[in-house]
Amino acid sequence: LVELGMPTRSVDTTCAYCGVGCSFRAEVSGEGDDTRVVRMIPSKDGGANEGHSCVKGRFAYGYASHDDRQMHPMVRDSIDEEWRTVSWEEAIGRVAEGFRAIQAEHGVGSIGGISSSRCTNEEVYVVQKMVRAAFGNNNIDTCARVCHSPTGYGLNQTFGTSAGTQDFKSVESADVILLIGANPTDAHPVFASRMKRRLRQGAQIIVADPRRIDIVRSPHVEAAHHLPVLPGSNVAFVNALAHTIVTEGLHDEEFLRSRCENVEDYLAFIARDENSPESTAAATGVPPEQLRAAARLYASAANSAIYYGLGVTEHSQGSTMVMGMANLAMVTGNIGREGVGVNPLRGQNNVQGSCDMGSFPHEFPGYRHVSRDEVRSIYESLWGLALDPQPGLRIPNMFDSAIGGTFRGLFVQGEDIAQSDPNTQHVEAALSAMDMVVVQDLFLNETARFAHVFLPGSSFLEKDGTFTNAERRINRVRPVFPSRVGKDEWRVVCEIAQAMGYDMHYDSAAEIMDEIAQTTPTFAGVSFARLDAEGSMQWPVNDAAPQGTPTMHVGEFVRGKGHLVETVYVPTTERTTRRYPLVLTTGRILSQYNVGAQTRRTPNQTWHPEDVLEIHPADADLRGISTGDRVELSSRVGTTTLTAVVSERMPAGVVYTTFHHPVTGANVVTTENSDWATNCPEYKVTAVQVGVANAG
Ligand code: SF4
Repeated sequence: LVELGMPTRSVDTTCAYCGVGCSFRAEVSGEGDDTRVVRMIPSKDGGANEGHSCVKGRFAYGYASHDDRQMHPMVRDSIDEEWRTVSWEEAIGRVAEGFRAIQAEHGVGSIGGISSSRCTNEEVYVVQKMVRAAFGNNNIDTCARVCHSPTGYGLNQTFGTSAGTQDFKSVESADVILLIGANPTDAHPVFASRMKRRLRQGAQIIVADPRRIDIVRSPHVEAAHHLPVLPGSNVAFVNALAHTIVTEGLHDEEFLRSRCENVEDYLAFIARDENSPESTAAATGVPPEQLRAAARLYASAANSAIYYGLGVTEHSQGSTMVMGMANLAMVTGNIGREGVGVNPLRGQNNVQGSCDMGSFPHEFPGYRHVSRDEVRSIYESLWGLALDPQPGLRIPNMFDSAIGGTFRGLFVQGEDIAQSDPNTQHVEAALSAMDMVVVQDLFLNETARFAHVFLPGSSFLEKDGTFTNAERRINRVRPVFPSRVGKDEWRVVCEIAQAMGYDMHYDSAAEIMDEIAQTTPTFAGVSFARLDAEGSMQWPVNDAAPQGTPTMHVGEFVRGKGHLVETVYVPTTERTTRRYPLVLTTGRILSQYNVGAQTRRTPNQTWHPEDVLEIHPADADLRGISTGDRVELSSRVGTTTLTAVVSERMPAGVVYTTFHHPVTGANVVTTENSDWATNCPEYKVTAVQVGVANAG
């Protein structure tokens, strides 16, 4: 405090890290360019955090003023040249000219954009608008493609909307919590505290995760069951739970008959012997009696709630698994009141919002398909031009088309695809093949190595807008100081659109939200004025729910009847072999965040300076590996080197690492396999070999 000076004012804003969306009061000293954040105080009236915070939101904000930050637009003719600093006008002109030239030679569909779940709703909205209106196609995708796109698909198919069913507070009414493929202690710490508080009050938890994560046994918390479901077998697992419930008569007959459809076909499907705990045990690795006991516990409680993470979605059957969990909740009647539901723990601060804002190639804001004439006409009349009714390219399609020569220009906002996306070699080949790559970011990240234009971005401390957290809560983000690069990101995007010939203009971020409210039924009642006066709100906010909607699907599902889906288990094609006998699965650690672009530039770096490989003692012994050894991790697509940690937390046959550091580059080894419905990469299952590095 002495060094930074006493705070002279404060600004209420929202954390820029995980999907919990904690509210903070930023206490600030100094003025103008000398403005500094003195400390971040978690807000007691923050709807998501109620005065709590974690080491990221509380301490890891210094990246905003790190020396690595790029403050000026830069251009270069080829990626072998040095960057040249230019004016905003020249950089934006270069982008527009490059994109127009590509389209003139290769067609309207030869360029596209990727928006970011780190950016505000308003920023994402203008990016998808730029692509649809100025580029003239639907080649817009979001980094949610590689994390929670199966959540969007699966919950939409079963319940009728692509979002979690509850608010966070709901966990305080849960009697049994089924936690699948999520490690909230590391990835969603403030929500984990809330969950543990409920467990200390007597609720029980079933943990389904190949690793023995902290919440299985922590002070005053012991899981009723830890089910070490093997990577790749989630659908077999969830079907076995539902099979037990249905065949033992534990299902909610009344709920099924009154609120669901496809009931008879689903019950006949799930009762088949192939879905029994005994038949699926070889795939899941879970003893049948333990699985049956867990199913009985989930089905017998007054209120049972499912919480899940990327351990569900990042599989070749990620979407099927989401629908399997929705089935489980419907079969037991655990939907439509507090303490129950199906709840994705969203990774990034605005992954819910970036999906809500229409940054998928097949959907306008509010999850409405681009082929629907009545929806397209809303935007056509407001934006003043005809829009493409055909879905555009997803991120993996963009990469494949780039290598094939038909996709030549890409705008990437706030996302480091060269580090975060699977099979790094494939991504780099795609970026290298393009004529124009434009990166808008705080730092010259890995993707910028392939860029021709770099547009400096603004940190969350400079943004005016909203983030939407995992419980659909729309939180205000307020600028602590003006953009340090002289131009808000949404203004830059508007100016690119204008330079390309489409008139796109707003006076403020509030005006963008007004357009979102005008065109998106679930946001109809949202405005900055209301959020500032009344605090955060959970969508839908409209005439039917003027104060927002903490719990969804009360009395009726958004789609009318809940749809039970016959979730057939199809094993992944990623199999272990003699050459690659182990399975790699990946995740996060508390102090770091995703590709580490922010946290590596803060004191949090000292707590986790490198990614390590966790390996079971038996697998380590077999290979002569001890903790601290440098080991080579290889798959059929690539090899990297990292430090081993021998750990009883791992099951034999499975190894684990994080992807926070580019020097390790865990995605050098992950493959092109992806979810059948959404192309979400199968980060959680890669057949690998591990050996002591340089062992000859
Ligand atoms: Fe930020 Fe998530 Fe930590 Fe809250 S729990 S302070 S939102 S990183």
